[in-house]
Amino acid sequence: MEHVCESKLAYPPGLKWTKQRKDVYHVLLGASQPLSPAQIYQQIAIDGEMDYAVSTIYRILSTFEEKGMVNKSVCMADGTVVYEWNKGGHRHYAVCLGCHKRVALPSCPFEQLKLDIHTNDFQVTSHKLELYGYCKECAK
Ligand SMILES: [Zn+2]
Ligand SMILES: [Zn+2]
Repeated sequence: MEHVCESKLAYPPGLKWTKQRKDVYHVLLGASQPLSPAQIYQQIAIDGEMDYAVSTIYRILSTFEEKGMVNKSVCMADGTVVYEWNKGGHRHYAVCLGCHKRVALPSCPFEQLKLDIHTNDFQVTSHKLELYGYCKECAK
């Protein structure tokens, strides 16, 4: 977990930054992969005192989502909902079916292929791609 210095951090505008929202923000910003609300809750509990319920995390995440601050994705293998801070651009992940670890792909395969999937009948605005398999540890 990367340490984010409080004094250097400017919170995104358009929201009242309560302590709980700041906690969730810090965890998401320092995360190297998308996290489920339960993982965020655990992380906050490790980092400091935790005086609110996991349902608070869900509420905060849906507020962030409304503001377009986070990207929400649902793991197709097991239905886990995970959130990632929206830093612009997008990433694809390979998800381990053993331990649910997510490994980011170095680039978007669609961009590499330079696929022209725009047609007159359908304007593509986004896409989803998730790979499933087993990480090094679980493949053993
Ligand atoms: Zn694994
Ligand atoms: Zn892509």
